[in-house]
Amino acid sequence: MTAKIIDGKGFSQKLRSRIASTVAEIRTSKGIVPGLAVILVGQDPASEVYVRNKAKQTSEVGMESFKYILDADVSEESLLDLIDEVNRNDSIHGLLVQLPLPDHIDSDLVINSISPQKDVDGFHISNVGLLSTGQKAMVPCTPLGCKLMLLDYHGSLSGLNAVVVGRSNIVGKPMANLLLQENCTVTIAHSRTRDLPAVCREADILVAAVGRPNFIKGSWIKPGATVIDVGINRINNPDPAISKPKLVGDVDFDEAKSVAGAITPVPGGVGPMTIACLLANTVTSFCRTEGLPDPNWVEK
Ligand code: NDP
Repeated sequence: MTAKIIDGKGFSQKLRSRIASTVAEIRTSKGIVPGLAVILVGQDPASEVYVRNKAKQTSEVGMESFKYILDADVSEESLLDLIDEVNRNDSIHGLLVQLPLPDHIDSDLVINSISPQKDVDGFHISNVGLLSTGQKAMVPCTPLGCKLMLLDYHGSLSGLNAVVVGRSNIVGKPMANLLLQENCTVTIAHSRTRDLPAVCREADILVAAVGRPNFIKGSWIKPGATVIDVGINRINNPDPAISKPKLVGDVDFDEAKSVAGAITPVPGGVGPMTIACLLANTVTSFCRTEGLPDPNWVEK
C-alpha cells in the first residue's frame, strides 16, 4: 500500500482563496474589512519570520494587518495596556500575542486579557471552556486545520477511532475535543501511556503532536489509517553535503507511507494550514461581531 498524501499546502491555498472571496464580499456589502493584529515582544528570529508571514498573508486575502513590536524588556503593564487598546479598537477583529513571551511576563494573564471574541488563537480560558462544552468557540488554529483536512478527506468522521498522541493545551487537548465533536471515539495518549504502539494501532485516525522526530513507527499504524503529523522537528540533514537542517515530523514518514491509507507530509501538511486558519478565525470573529452566520470553511 502507498498512502495518499494529504496536501496541506494545496488545501491551505484553496482555503485562503475562499477567505479572500469572503473578505471581498464583506468589503462590498459592509464597506469595511476584517482586521488582524499581532503583538510581538522581543526579537526571537523564528517568531519574527512567523509574524512577517502572518502580516503578508493577512494583506494578501484583503484584510487589514496591524503589527505591534515591543522591546523584550517591556513591562507587563504596558503590554496589558496595549491589549486593552486593541480590544477596544473596532477595526481589529482578531488579536494574537506571539508566544513564547519573556520570563518576566505572565503568559496566562496576557492571554486571558485578550477579548475572547478577538482571541483568534483560541487560547483564552473562555474559548477553552466553550470548546470543551461543545459551544461556539474560537478554536486553536493548528487543530482546526487538522480537522478541516480530515473532513475534506473523509467527509464524515463519525464512529471512527481517533488517537491523539500529545496532550498540550495548544494542540493535543483541543484536537481531541474537536474529534469528539465529530463523533469519533477518542483516546489521548502521552508520555505516561502504557504500550503506546498498541494504542496507536487501534486508530483509524492517528494525530501525532509529540515534538520528537520520526517517533511514530510504521509498525504502530493500523493498515489504511489516516495519519495527521503535527510535529515540526529540525534534524541534521542526513546528506552531509547539505548544512541546512532537515524538517521532519513526529511520524517516520518513509515507514508510515507504506502502511497508512493517507498521511500529511512534513513540510507541506499541517504547517501551512495553521496561518490559513488564523485568517479564517479572524473572518469568523468579524462575522460574529456583525451578527452574520459563521462562514463554512469546509465547503468546496
Ligand atoms: P508539547 O511539548 O507542549 O507537548 C508534547 C506532548 O507530547 C506532551 O503531551 C507529551 O506528554 C507528549 N509526549 C512527549 N514524549 C512522549 C512520548 N515518549 N510518548 C508519548 N507522548 C509523549 O508540544 P506541542 O503540542 O506544542 O507541539 C507538538 C509538536 O507539534 C511539536 O513538534 C511542535 O513543533 C508541533 N507544532 C506544530 C504546529 C504547526 O503549525 N504545524 C503548531 C504547534 C505545534 P506529557 O504531557 O506526558 O509530557
